Amino acid sequence: MNTPLPHALRALTPNVHAWLPDGHATWGMANCVVVTGRTAGSGAALLVDTPYTAGMTRHLQQLIDGLGDGPAGRPEVRTVVNTHGNGDHSYGNGLFPDAEIIATDANGEHLCAEPAPADLAGLIAGSDPDSPLGAYMRRHFGRYGDFGGVSTVHPTRTFSGELDLDVDGVEVRLIEVGPAHTAGDLIVHLPQEGVVCAGDVVFNEDHPVHWAGPLESVHRACRRILDCDPRVVVPGHGPVMTPAEVRRYADYLLDLRDAVHRGHGAGRPLPVLAAELIADDPYPAWGLTERMAILAAVEYRALDGETGRPDLVGLVGMAAGFAHRREGAAAGGTAAGSVPAGSGG
Ligand SMILES: [Zn+2]
Repeated sequence: MNTPLPHALRALTPNVHAWLPDGHATWGMANCVVVTGRTAGSGAALLVDTPYTAGMTRHLQQLIDGLGDGPAGRPEVRTVVNTHGNGDHSYGNGLFPDAEIIATDANGEHLCAEPAPADLAGLIAGSDPDSPLGAYMRRHFGRYGDFGGVSTVHPTRTFSGELDLDVDGVEVRLIEVGPAHTAGDLIVHLPQEGVVCAGDVVFNEDHPVHWAGPLESVHRACRRILDCDPRVVVPGHGPVMTPAEVRRYADYLLDLRDAVHRGHGAGRPLPVLAAELIADDPYPAWGLTERMAILAAVEYRALDGETGRPDLVGLVGMAAGFAHRREGAAAGGTAAGSVPAGSGG
């Protein structure tokens, strides 16, 4: 693990603290949010999402312990909520063996496509380091080591629609908004605190990736976040946001959808359109431009009426091809807008 982790949790309100790793232009450094109860010493705590590795999760647990001023006041995470089933939001579940783990019913559908930690470690170690996918996997996932100490731990409680919880006087509303980023997304609304935890429906300062889509569904999920009228939105990755920033991000999703639909309507092959989108990147300060290819591929699938589970590794492989070509161009090679070989997705 060679990426620095947060030194402290950030207080959004007296009862809500966010773990916000600096993950700009990386995969896997997801945000988590701790909700503690109103009574001093009650110990009640709920955690929204768990980190990618055992080491990161233990680090977060130490910071949560530090919120208490003595053993009697130490928060005890009795409830874990998974906003969705990607590993960077749920691999740490097993380090909370006594907690109830809550997700949507539909999250189970996504979990069938999500690699288990050992499979992901095998994929990283077993891929050809000289191939675009192998180089990309090593660069972006190698920092997490072999994912030892974590395994896929399924939710112990699931729901559809909405579920209201209470953390010692703090209202917690779980609202299903998928399919959007994945088949089974939820957002966490803390109405008394003015906070919404958006999961990966919202990314900040990096290009978003969405596996289920289509983009209109992700946009609808963003509208649902804004309908909660929050003061602060915690995205799945990146710094906390204002509602105005979420609105701009949602507008961008629709602009991108329109561009992809135009390309599809004009009969442009996916790799050609993806290369054009990347070359015209409207947010060059955001990291991971190659994710635009994944968004285009997912949108093409919807337009072509394809159903079935997304091939997550195949999609990352396609993005890796574009990242490889861009780096080649930066090093004086081929034009940045050109189409990488074998980038069909
Ligand atoms: Zn994520």
